[in-house]
Amino acid sequence: MNTDIIIVGCGVAGLYAALNLPEEKNILIITKSDAPSSDSYLAQGGICMMRNEADYEPFFEDTMKAGHYENNKESVDIMIRSSQDVIHDLIGYGVEFERDKNGELLFTREGAHSDYRILYHEDITGEEITSKLLDQVKQKENITLMEYTTMIDLLEENNTCYGIVASDKENHVFPIFAENVLLACGGIGGLFSHSTNFPHLTGDGLAVCLKHHVELLHPDYIQIHPTTLYSSKPERAFLISESVRGEGALLYNKKDGERFVNELLPRDVVTREINKQMEKDGTDHVYLDMRPIGKEDILNHFPHIYERCMEEGYRPLEEPVPIVPAQHYFMGGIKVDRHSKTTMEHLYAAGETSCNGVHGANRLASNSLLESLVFAKRAALHMLQQKNDSNQKEVSSLFHQEQYTDKEKLLEEYHTLVKNEIERIKKSHE
Ligand SMILES: Cc1cc2nc3c(=O)[nH]c(=O)nc-3n(C[C@H](O)[C@H](O)[C@H](O)COP(=O)(O)OP(=O)(O)OC[C@H]3O[C@@H](n4cnc5c(N)ncnc54)[C@H](O)[C@@H]3O)c2cc1C
Repeated sequence: MNTDIIIVGCGVAGLYAALNLPEEKNILIITKSDAPSSDSYLAQGGICMMRNEADYEPFFEDTMKAGHYENNKESVDIMIRSSQDVIHDLIGYGVEFERDKNGELLFTREGAHSDYRILYHEDITGEEITSKLLDQVKQKENITLMEYTTMIDLLEENNTCYGIVASDKENHVFPIFAENVLLACGGIGGLFSHSTNFPHLTGDGLAVCLKHHVELLHPDYIQIHPTTLYSSKPERAFLISESVRGEGALLYNKKDGERFVNELLPRDVVTREINKQMEKDGTDHVYLDMRPIGKEDILNHFPHIYERCMEEGYRPLEEPVPIVPAQHYFMGGIKVDRHSKTTMEHLYAAGETSCNGVHGANRLASNSLLESLVFAKRAALHMLQQKNDSNQKEVSSLFHQEQYTDKEKLLEEYHTLVKNEIERIKKSHE
């Protein structure tokens, strides 16, 4: 197969990049699962936007402080300065954010934000944004979307990317040649037993980069979310958005117990305090009391969280619900520059799989959708300026079918490769 641009992943990063490429380019988007199965669909709380010029400094400072001042300042600046344009684009694509009676946008707040600057759609902001982007993509004749198609390798020579190796549902393995490749393959939650992520998100982009010596950055920067609904069943952890605490919910050590932490501190701090508390009390969960938010606001702003609690047998309007921390987000990733370009020629990365340093050591709530969109667009615009002088005749020799006889084994090896790299970097910091 030949195309102009391959995009691996159809979360917000992959979809928005595709929409920012010109219609004369042939674009192929592949996804490992069905199109709606991306973490982008799961985002609850919302998406940040700089409200006005006066909000620039506080937004910048909140992002830096949450990230322990390890953030790349240029990336933070780009993200904040681009936020209004991106939101404008989203609204143009039909995304609906909550508004007041006069039609003005409403803003909510989450932990570590000094002000209200988060746009939201009930508690399913990710689904609203991603489904609208997907609708747009499906209308484009130049974009082909292949579901249940997994990238299992890069086609590479002399640090230049010429495409990918993919495998379909029937395990047919085939090369796809392209001028440019964008890795938009999300996080690494599938490598953990307790995670809010879809289990098929296993850091495959990182693995192929490690294999081909493309640089990673901070692979040990992994965010654990403080509040997921406690469940004894081994399934994807259900997130209780930070905006629930932003709107007033409180944490207790026991059901009728005491508060033990300021609920609006950054995620890593709250997680640490919960873990300490559970260890002290010998428990495997603590409690979140949503009642201070008030019945009407719970039902209007957080209807899906409310319903899920009820399904699990908890009544958030009447009692605190049990919660426990779980793996949630990956701040590290494939190292990219301000244009989302990796250290390999013609290879880009955007969204959660990439690391442009915007989040530093810890992500500020609701900065992820924004960052994914901003830097996906930058990748799209930059790759248009790249010239590729390869042709199929030359590059077809890069594909060796016999290397891919056992896909499952290969993917297992990739998981081990990524986990080992995370451990190696962690140890080097001890
Ligand atoms: C429960 C939850 C709530 C969240 N809430 C918020 C929030 O309120 N605000 C916010 O800003 N952020 C939030 N986040 C984080 C945010 O949703 C993600 O960081 C962001 O959506 C990542 O987008 P992405 O496009 O990079 O990846 P994803 O949306 O995860 O998409 C990854 C894509 O890559 C595909 N893929 C992976 N590997 C392969 C492969 N080998 N071959 C082919 N395809 C592959 C997947 O199938 C998928 O299509 C939340 C995350 C979760 C899990």
